[in-house]
Amino acid sequence: MGQIVGIDLGTTNSVVGVVEAGRPIVIASSEGTRTTPSIVGFTKDKEIVIGDQARRQLVLNPKNTFYNLKRFIGCDWDELDESSISVPYNVKANEKGNVRVLSPFTGREYAPEELVSSIIRKLINDAETYLGDTVDSAVITVPAYFNESQRQATKDSAILAGIKVDRILNEPTAAALAYGFEKSSSNKVLVFDLGGGTFDVSLLKISNGVFDVKATCGDTQLGGNNFDSKIVDWIAEKFKKKYNIDLRRDRQALQRLTEAAEKAKCELSGLQKTKISLPFITTNNDGPLHIEEDFDRKIFESLCQDLLDRLLEPVQIAIDDSGWQAQDIDEVVLVGGSTRIPMVQQLVKTLVPNDPCQSVNPDEVVAIGAVIQSGIISGDLRDLLLNDITPLSLGLETIGGLMKVLIPRNTPIPVRQSDVFSTSESNQSSVVVQVRQGERPLASENKSLGKFRLSGIPPAPRGIPQVQVAFDIDANGLLEVSATDRTTGRKQSVTISGGSNLNEEEINSIISEAKLKASEDRKKRSVIDRKNNALTLIAQAEKRLRDASLEFGPYGAERQQRAVEIAIQDVEDFLDDDDPQELELSVSSLQEALFGLNRKFAAVKKVDNNPLQGIKNTFGSLKDELFSDDYWDDDPWDNEMNSNYRNKRYGNSRDDDPWDNDYFL
Ligand code: AMP
Repeated sequence: MGQIVGIDLGTTNSVVGVVEAGRPIVIASSEGTRTTPSIVGFTKDKEIVIGDQARRQLVLNPKNTFYNLKRFIGCDWDELDESSISVPYNVKANEKGNVRVLSPFTGREYAPEELVSSIIRKLINDAETYLGDTVDSAVITVPAYFNESQRQATKDSAILAGIKVDRILNEPTAAALAYGFEKSSSNKVLVFDLGGGTFDVSLLKISNGVFDVKATCGDTQLGGNNFDSKIVDWIAEKFKKKYNIDLRRDRQALQRLTEAAEKAKCELSGLQKTKISLPFITTNNDGPLHIEEDFDRKIFESLCQDLLDRLLEPVQIAIDDSGWQAQDIDEVVLVGGSTRIPMVQQLVKTLVPNDPCQSVNPDEVVAIGAVIQSGIISGDLRDLLLNDITPLSLGLETIGGLMKVLIPRNTPIPVRQSDVFSTSESNQSSVVVQVRQGERPLASENKSLGKFRLSGIPPAPRGIPQVQVAFDIDANGLLEVSATDRTTGRKQSVTISGGSNLNEEEINSIISEAKLKASEDRKKRSVIDRKNNALTLIAQAEKRLRDASLEFGPYGAERQQRAVEIAIQDVEDFLDDDDPQELELSVSSLQEALFGLNRKFAAVKKVDNNPLQGIKNTFGSLKDELFSDDYWDDDPWDNEMNSNYRNKRYGNSRDDDPWDNDYFL
C-alpha cells in the first residue's frame, strides 16, 4: 500500500507534506521550493508545464498560462464575480453553463478540475520522489466556505490525478489542527484565513487534542487577487486618462501590470511607500510608453476599503453563530499570505481584541494541518479528534419555490437528517427532489446541487403519500440524498455531484486520456533525458581526451584514447537515431572506454609516485598497463566483449603473451 500525504491546494500556491517520525513535515518540490505555484501552462510544443515553470511563462505566454483556477472549480459561470474572470487567458461558459478555460496552443478547452488535477499530480510526484515510495491517497484542504459542488469538483481533480481522497478538510480547521497540535491547554480560537483567492473564518474550541469546530463563514470569491486588481485598475485608469489607452485590453500588459501590482502590495506590507515601474508597457505614435508611479499605503488603503468591508461580515456572522462573544476568544490565528497586509491585521484587531498568534507560518500551516489529519487517518498520530461542521445550510425546494432546510449551517458532521414530505396534487405519481444549499429563504436563490425524481407513488389524494427524504453528510462534507416512498418502500438516492464541472463520463475519458498521455510523456521525457545524458557524457569524454593528450602525448595512452574516440563517434551516430537501445549500448561502451582511460590516469599517477617505475613507464606504458597484474584484477575492459578483443589480438592466455618476456627491462 502506498503512502498518504496532506495537500494544501491553494489558489496561489500549493503545498504537500507527510508525517515523518511522528511529526508533520513539508516536502520540498523538485525545484527545491516549499510551495508550488498553483499555475498550469502549455508551451508552443503543447507540453504541459506546472508550478514555477508555468509561472515563468506568465508574461510571455499569458493566453496559455492559467492561474487562480481554484476560483472556478465547481462553479457555474454565473456564480463568478467580475474580478475572477478578468484574467489574461480565455475563460468561457460551455453550453451547460460550466466554466471552461481555453488554450490556443493545444486548441482545447479544459474544465478547471482537469488543470487543477495536474497540479495535484505534480505535488504527488514530488512527494513520491522524496519518499521513494508511491502515494495513493491524500487529505486535501478546501476553503471551509466551499459548497458541495466545489468540494466534489476538488475530489474529481484528485481522481483525475490518480489518487484517492481520504478526507476533504476545511482549511481553517487544518490551520487550527496545526496550531493546536501538541498544545494541551483549552482554547477558543478564531482562524482568519485570507489567501490569494478565498476568505474563510472559523471558530473552534480546542481542548486536549479534541478540535470542535463551532462556526464557519467566508467568501470564496475574495482574496489577495482582489487587492491586486484594485491596484491594477488604479494604474490602468491613470494611464488611460493620460494616453487614452486601456492597458487591461492588452493581455501581456495586463499580466505585467498584475505582477507589478502584487509586488507593490507585498512591499507595502513592510514599507510605507514603493514605486511601480513598468518600462515599455506599450507604444503609441510617439513611441514607447512607460509607467512610473509612486504608490504608498495611504493610496492602497483608500483603494481597498470595500474589500475590508467584505471581510467584516463573515467574521461577525461566524462569531454570532458560535454563540460566543468576541472577548471570549483566546487566540486569533492568521492564515494565508494576505493576512500580512497591515490594514487586514488592523481590521482583525478591531474585531477581536487579542494580538494574533505569531507562532504559525501562514504559508504552511494549512498543509501541516492536512498532514496531521493524514496522520490521524493512517494511525501515525493518535489522541487527536476532529469534529468539523457543514458551512452552509442544506435543504430542498418545496412547493411555491421555498427552501426547506434539513441540515442548518454549522451542524457537526458526519450527520444524517430526514423529514417527511408529501404530494402537492391529488394522484401525483412522482415527486422531484431538488437539493439546494444556501441561506436564502427563496430556493432559487440558493445553489442547486442537483435533482432527482422518485416515481411510482400510488394514486392518492394530495397530502396523503409520505415520502421520507434523508440527507447524509460524511466526514468530508459530501452529501448523499435519498427519498423513500413509505407506502411502497421505493427508494431513489443520489450522491451530489451536480455542480461539478464534469460528469462521470467526462471524468473517465479524461483519466484514460491522461493515462495514455502519461506513458507518451514518459517516453518523450526518457528520449530527451537519454539524449541529454549522452551529450553530457560526450562533453566529458572530449575533455578527458584533451587531458590525456596533454598528459601522455598523442601515443601515451593510444589504445584508451582511440577507444574513447571510437565510442564517442558511435554515440554521436546514434544520437538522432530512433533506436533507444543502440544509443544506450553506445553510451555504456563510451562509459567503459572512459573508465579505461581514467584507469590509465590513475596508473600513471601511481607510477609517478614511484620514480623507478617511472623510467620503465617511459618505454612501455601501454604494455605495462595492459599486462601488469593489478591492472588485470579490476580491469573494466575485462568483460566478455573486451576479453574476446584482447584474445583475438594477443592470444588466449596471458602466459603466452608476446610481450611477456619484455615485462622487466
Ligand atoms: P496563499 O493563498 O496563502 O498562498 O496567499 C497568497 C496571497 O497572499 C497572494 O495574493 C499574495 O499576493 C499574498 N501575499 C503574500 N505575501 C504577502 C505580503 N507580504 N503582503 C501582502 N500580501 C501577500
